[in-house]
Amino acid sequence: MKLEHIKEDKCSHCGALTVEESRKNQHVNGLWNEERYFACGKIVRFLPNYGKDFEPQVVKECTNLPTTIEINTKRSKLYEQIVAVVDKSKADEEYKQDLLRRIRFV
Ligand SMILES: [Zn+2]
Repeated sequence: MKLEHIKEDKCSHCGALTVEESRKNQHVNGLWNEERYFACGKIVRFLPNYGKDFEPQVVKECTNLPTTIEINTKRSKLYEQIVAVVDKSKADEEYKQDLLRRIRFV
């Protein structure tokens, strides 16, 4: 598949390769939605009905960027703290498991 608007074919930060891409939902202006996923987690999206000047947008940054690593480290610590609080709670086990299941993939 050839994407017309997303030119980046490997992550500009770490060089990770494309693992998935799509081109679908053509708009009345003739342009298609495009998406490209990289092995490092970066996602670039082109939506011709949103955004300024119809430029591709990075919707999820490379996980190897120092800023992303710092953000993910803080998020992981917060998740661990929440799990610890839930584990210590005297609430019923069904509720606790449901609560953890809901926040696991946030
Ligand atoms: Zn990357």
